[in-house]
Amino acid sequence: MSAAPRIGVLALQGDVREHRRALTEVGAEPVDVRRPEELAGIDGLVLPGGESTTIGKLLELFELLEPLRAAVKTGLPVYGSCAGMILLADEVIDGRPDQPTVGGLDIAVRRNAFGRQVDSFETDLPMVGIGEVHAVFIRAPWVERTGPGVEVLATVAAGAATGKVVAVRHGPLLATSFHPELTGDSRVHGLFVQMVKENQS
Ligand code: GLN
Repeated sequence: MSAAPRIGVLALQGDVREHRRALTEVGAEPVDVRRPEELAGIDGLVLPGGESTTIGKLLELFELLEPLRAAVKTGLPVYGSCAGMILLADEVIDGRPDQPTVGGLDIAVRRNAFGRQVDSFETDLPMVGIGEVHAVFIRAPWVERTGPGVEVLATVAAGAATGKVVAVRHGPLLATSFHPELTGDSRVHGLFVQMVKENQS
């Protein structure tokens, strides 16, 4: 059996602790990433939920933006939840004009897409490769465009936003609009760890 994969969690802002816990539950070794050197020696990386404009600014301040872009380009597996999805997207609709992002995932996301009245909500939806998931959305984005090769893993299954794309995968990149790290269900992290292992073999 191979050793537990070391998975970095970008620890500048957001729900870092919850991701660490979910990763531990699925047999990975979580490692906080705050400095460029900490990107060396990780097998995958999680970009947590939080506030994408703040995380983007901190990425610049901590001189992590370029190293992270380079890591994504060279095939590092990355999972972004909510703000993390926004950071990974090649195109951000309704972003701040000066909002720094990492990019690399060929999708367009709409920031705060679900509107003010339904800022936060929870719903059950089926996710490819996992089954029924309880999805928690907090001022979440949705995916408006997917490039060729991007696999849609989940869409909203009920209510006004039915059909909106909220989970995607492209090669080693995974993104969800919702926060599986907040529900105590670690199957999405399990899927990511499986992707990291596939990438290693
Ligand atoms: N609305 C936030 C943003 O634009 C994302 C919210 C979240 O991560 N829960 O970054």
